[in-house]
Amino acid sequence: MNMAVDTARLSKEIDELASISDAEPPAVTRIVFTPTDLRARAWLVDRCQQAGLLVRQDPVGNIFARWTGSEPRMPAVGTGSHIDAIPNAGKYDGVVGVLGGLEAMRTLERAGFRPRSSIELLVFTSEEPTRFGIGCLGSRLLSGTMPAETARKLTDKEGVPLDEVRHAAGFRGQLEEVRLPDGYYKAFVELHIEQGPLLERRRIPLGIVTEIAAPSSLRISIAGSGGHAGGVLMADRKDALCTAAELILAIENAAKTSGSADTVATVGICEVFPGAVNSIPSRVQLAVDVRDTSLERRDRVLHAIDCARQSIANSRKVSAEAVQLNADAPASCDPGIVEALSESSRKNHSAFLPMVSRAYHDALFISRIAPVAMLFIPCRNGYSHRPDEYASPEDIARGVTVLADTLAALAS
Ligand SMILES: [Zn+2]
Repeated sequence: MNMAVDTARLSKEIDELASISDAEPPAVTRIVFTPTDLRARAWLVDRCQQAGLLVRQDPVGNIFARWTGSEPRMPAVGTGSHIDAIPNAGKYDGVVGVLGGLEAMRTLERAGFRPRSSIELLVFTSEEPTRFGIGCLGSRLLSGTMPAETARKLTDKEGVPLDEVRHAAGFRGQLEEVRLPDGYYKAFVELHIEQGPLLERRRIPLGIVTEIAAPSSLRISIAGSGGHAGGVLMADRKDALCTAAELILAIENAAKTSGSADTVATVGICEVFPGAVNSIPSRVQLAVDVRDTSLERRDRVLHAIDCARQSIANSRKVSAEAVQLNADAPASCDPGIVEALSESSRKNHSAFLPMVSRAYHDALFISRIAPVAMLFIPCRNGYSHRPDEYASPEDIARGVTVLADTLAALAS
């Protein structure tokens, strides 16, 4: 099969989609269900229909564009990503997987390939948490990771419920209908920019993801007692910030001694009350993010943090309460799809790096209902979520070629 990606058209389409934005170029802002997002969706649906794909949209706005195979009852092979963009972002995050996925299908069609299983492009609603405060909304609902009744309670920053927002955007039907039936996909592959520096640094043009890490986050509230910084002697203090300091180092240590470099723990927020130079801190709030590729190891680290919290609080005679805010499980990619991607890379004379996805993506949630894998291409300096995000047309074309070849192998 002679596969030739139409790089010029793909670059033009990436630029065109980037121009549908609420920010000054080169920045891209596209928040889910805004008029701008709806214009981008209409533009994309039109592209898919021009390519001869059958388009449907579900009640939360996930877009499916299907190339029907010769055995349409067989589970489909899926690919795709997202087109929503956080404020002041770039034009490649998500978009490479959507327009690249579309171009992969067109490339196969031009090359004379005809799929046995249908091949479907899936554009996920609201991968970014900007509007509803939770990432991967579309794929959480598709996979049943988030029940419809939980999603119905979501509101945007203005307090408008998800149902009201999606109805106004023209998406009808019940959220319960979004969940995909079991066995819907036989395989799902997401093409994405790396959003990190490893591929560029090592001059390797492709990354094949074997594991997708996932975060758990905690809020820890410490309550000691305040007082005058001069009046209360050291022996009589219950300093909430000193407690927090000890705990932060224990959290760092728990990650460092997990036995794997894949464990990372971060205390990204430390709010001190009352926050005056001459006042003993009486209350502190910490936000903790723990990530790993292994759920079991991450849970061990969380347990170690919990033990440290209790013992430090006891010895300092203060209270320290923890609330778990979320705990998405990490996922392993399917060895069969990883091998298909590796084989396609070799066939196309492209070196590749097996790697961990440190950020999470819609593929993480689709992994709950289907075998998944991800293909990464380099992005300049590892920059993402900023206007100077950049991936070269050559790197994109290489990713699309390997994606197309892999989709063909999976759908044959
Ligand atoms: Zn993304």
